Amino acid sequence: MPELPEVETLRTALIPLVCNKTLVELKFLRPDLRFPIPVKQLQKAMTGMVVHDVTRTGKYLLLHNVKGAMLWHLGMSGRVVQKPSMKAEEKHTHAVFQFEPDTFLHFIDPRRFGCILWVPKDKGHPLLDHLGPDPFSEEATPALFKERARTCKGPVKGFLMNATRIAGIGNIYACEALFEAEIHPMKSARKLSRPQWDRLLTEVRNVLRKSINAGGTTLRDFFNADGNPGYFALDLAVYGRQGEPCTRCRNPITRTVHTARSTFFCKTCQKR
Ligand SMILES: [Zn+2]
Repeated sequence: MPELPEVETLRTALIPLVCNKTLVELKFLRPDLRFPIPVKQLQKAMTGMVVHDVTRTGKYLLLHNVKGAMLWHLGMSGRVVQKPSMKAEEKHTHAVFQFEPDTFLHFIDPRRFGCILWVPKDKGHPLLDHLGPDPFSEEATPALFKERARTCKGPVKGFLMNATRIAGIGNIYACEALFEAEIHPMKSARKLSRPQWDRLLTEVRNVLRKSINAGGTTLRDFFNADGNPGYFALDLAVYGRQGEPCTRCRNPITRTVHTARSTFFCKTCQKR
């Protein structure tokens, strides 16, 4: 599943291809993905228009022009690749875009949990309006999270993975950041001290940054030979390492399952 670092890597790769370029043509090969695609609206608002920026909030990408932005989410299995023409070559190609002069981007998504939507300027979008701050944004501060966790009954791991609290943190990165911050994943979010929030946010950014740096900077090296995003190459400290020795204390890593999700942590290092 594409996570925040893969989406950030995609954003970086897209900038030289689409920024300050005219979007010549948009073609949609089906009317819907996870949600209906507003085909007419997108074609009217974007055809012949210059894209001036590509931004990201959590796992949402926004391609901006003066009228608003086209919003992309890659869902469970989406990817965007560069091809030699508008002709769909791969199965599950759902949308094709031509940027001047001859950049062709294909949106491919076998499971169709992704989305392509239109966000009118200054209007926002329900999907974005309910999102918490991106972990790299200025709004994301330890003070804000401590305040928001005050009324939160659940564990800190659930808080981290709740996109309405903080956008775009998946299971892998939640487990890794909690290990690095030495915080027990099931600790009640409202019981974290201010220094713990300080450290946790720092570690969230560190693990994401590490993964972003491990990714490529072009669409070509974004995916490995199997077509999977590069994060599989990441050096993970706890995620998927049940029974293996902790890198800090050498005691075995524990795996628990809670609401159908695995949590990996070190019982010795993450007591607080
Ligand atoms: Zn340990």
